[in-house]
Parts: sequence; structure tokens; C-alpha cells
Amino acid sequence: QFHPTGMIEPEGMDGRLVTEAVRGEGGRLYNSEGERFMERYSPKHMELDARDVVARANYREIREGRGTPDGAVLLDISHRDPGYIKDRLPNMYEQFVEQGVDITEEPMKVSPTAHYGMGGIEVDPRTCATAVEGLFAVGESTAGVHGANRLGGNSLAETVVFGKILGAHLADVLDDLLPPVPLDEGAAQEHFAALDVLATGTGGGERDPEGLIDELRDLVWDHAGIVRTGDGLREGIVKLRDLKKRAGELAIPDASTSRRFEHVLNLRAMLTAAEAVMRGALAREESRGAHHREDFPEEADGWQKNILCAGDEGGDMHLWTEPVGEVPAEIRKALDEDYSLDYHYLE
Ligand SMILES: Cc1cc2nc3c(=O)[nH]c(=O)nc-3n(C[C@H](O)[C@H](O)[C@H](O)COP(=O)(O)OP(=O)(O)OC[C@H]3O[C@@H](n4cnc5c(N)ncnc54)[C@H](O)[C@@H]3O)c2cc1C
Repeated sequence: QFHPTGMIEPEGMDGRLVTEAVRGEGGRLYNSEGERFMERYSPKHMELDARDVVARANYREIREGRGTPDGAVLLDISHRDPGYIKDRLPNMYEQFVEQGVDITEEPMKVSPTAHYGMGGIEVDPRTCATAVEGLFAVGESTAGVHGANRLGGNSLAETVVFGKILGAHLADVLDDLLPPVPLDEGAAQEHFAALDVLATGTGGGERDPEGLIDELRDLVWDHAGIVRTGDGLREGIVKLRDLKKRAGELAIPDASTSRRFEHVLNLRAMLTAAEAVMRGALAREESRGAHHREDFPEEADGWQKNILCAGDEGGDMHLWTEPVGEVPAEIRKALDEDYSLDYHYLE
């Protein structure tokens, strides 16, 4: 899920969130031609339309050359009283003053930013158990709670709700889980041998995992970002294969306790997540919530299902689909009544 408004500068702060509340308090988005462009994208809801709609509008303005030279659109709240801004948006005021921008007088440069991962590990919602015995998961690492478009504020609610469910469940079953399931020695040896190759540097490949992490970030942003196409995703998947190969040859000769060693392990997990995202996005030939395909811009009834993926024995990833669950009656009623929540003060 992409957030419409992140800072673009200074370096190190790029991507830092500019809260929804700025638009909630009346902030307006302008392009470099001074046009309040949300009139074109969403004349009814304007800047307060759903996160994905505003993120795509900002992205398109920048991509089509109507952004600032450094790749931003302008978010302006300076039409409001300075005292009101400082009172209602004290953190934003401070955040920008520190960068030499007084938001009571001038606009903020903003650009969409990656915000939240709505896919993740499949768990049993009653116990938070994963498919791996003895391994449980809650929160952003899991999938299934937020559908195609998480509403602001729902992530923290999720962590509290499922944290409580998991805690209660573990208190009940802890005795049965101890001692832990013994390691499969064969699998463990194979894993340790692979780590040894990495740590002794005998892999003979590149030595800069952080460089590869940066490349991976750029690759996913460019090929599986806010607006996706089949061609772009296919090209990205080919590049990903190359990156995966190079990651497999990384060599970190200076001991297994170094930060670089840790980065390699993270990189491997990131590559798996990136592959799941890109292949899932390629398979889903429709647009739904935060997933937008320029070549399939509409929601398709046949696609109201989840895409799952898992590694097979040869180490390749395979994908399949499963139907989504029934919508509970009270939620169906709220949807039918077009109930909406003013969530513009939550992220
Ligand atoms: C800028 C921003 C603002 C947000 N605002 C809101 C909001 O207002 N409301 C809302 O509902 N949601 C908000 N969200 C989303 C929400 O904050 C996150 O989804 C939520 O905090 C995720 O919680 P978590 O416990 O699942 O994961 P995390 O908070 O990411 O916790 C995971 C922890 O695991 C640790 N970890 C990672 N790898 C390892 C490892 N290998 N070994 C040991 N530890 C490890 C990490 O250091 C981290 O502490 C916001 C997100 C962002 C980025």
C-alpha cells in the first residue's frame, strides 16, 4: 500500500510520512502548473479520496511532467490560519521547520511512498499459527485482515487484537509446545553449510549486500510500484532472477557476526517477498484497492479471490488462488449502507 504523501528531501528523510491529517485539515494538492489537480481525478472527494486514488494521482502528475523538477507535487495548507495549523498539526509544523520550510506560509513537496505490506504469512486467525509447527505470527507480517486496501488506523488495531488472541492461545497450549519440536538435523546441516560458504567468502561473488538491497528496492519500486503493467512486471521478474543469482553468490569473508552478514539474510527474505509481490501482481489481471494495473484498470468479478504462494521442493515458488471468506453480516450491512469512516487523522 502506498501513502500519497511522503517527504522527498533531505536525503535520509525521503519517504518520511506527511500525515493524512494535513489533507484532513484542508490541505490542497497542486501541480507545478498551479492546478489543483484532484479536481480532475476525484471532483467529489478531492484530496480526501481513498489513499490509493490520491497516491495514483500524485504519481501520475509527477510522471507526466507536472511535478516539481525534483519529482514532487505540492501540498499546501497555508490558506489556513497559522495558529490553527500549529495547533492542529504541531508535529508536521516542526518536521518541516527543521528543514527550513514554514508550512504556514509555503507548500510542502510530497511524493507517494511505500507504506504498508498487505500480503504476508497465512495464519489461522483463531490461533495465529503458521504452517510451520511452533511458529506463530501476528501483525504486518501476516495476510488476510485488510483485504485489498487497508484503512488508516487498522494496523495497530490488528496488532492488538491478534496479539491478544495469540497470547491467550499460547497460555493454553504452551505445555504442549515444550520441549520444542526437534530440529530436522539434515535440513539444519544443509542450512549451516550454506551459511558457512557465505561467511568464509568461498562463494567468490560480490561483497556488498547493502548495494543489492538498494538495487532490489529500486527494482520493485520501478516494476511493481503504484501503477503496474504486465510488461513492466515481466521485465522486473527477469531482473529479479538476475539479482537473486547475484545474491546467491555473495561472499562475506569477515565473520558471521558482521552487519553485512545480517544484511545478506535480510536480502534473501526480501527477495522472496519481492518475488511473491511481483508474481502475484502479474497474475492478478485486474485493479483492486492498492493494486493497480494500467493494462487492466477495472476490478474484475472473477478476481475476488486471494493469491497464495509457497516454495516447492526444488526451491521454486508456485502460486495458486483460493476464494475469499464470506463477508460477516454486520460488515455486509455497513457496506450496503455505504458506511464510511473519516480516517484522515490515522495512517
Ligand atoms: C510512518 C508510519 C505511520 C503509521 N501510522 C499508523 C497509524 O497511525 N495507525 C495504524 O494503525 N498503523 C500505522 N502504520 C502501520 C503500523 O505502524 C504498522 O503496520 C505496525 O506498527 C506493524 O506492527 P508489527 O508489530 O506487525 O511490526 P513492526 O512494528 O514492524 O515490528 C516488527 C519488529 O520485528 C523486529 N525484527 C525484524 N526482523 C527481525 C529479526 N530477524 N529478528 C528479530 N527482530 C526482528 C523489528 O525490528 C521490529 O521491531 C504506520 C506505518 C508507518 C510506516
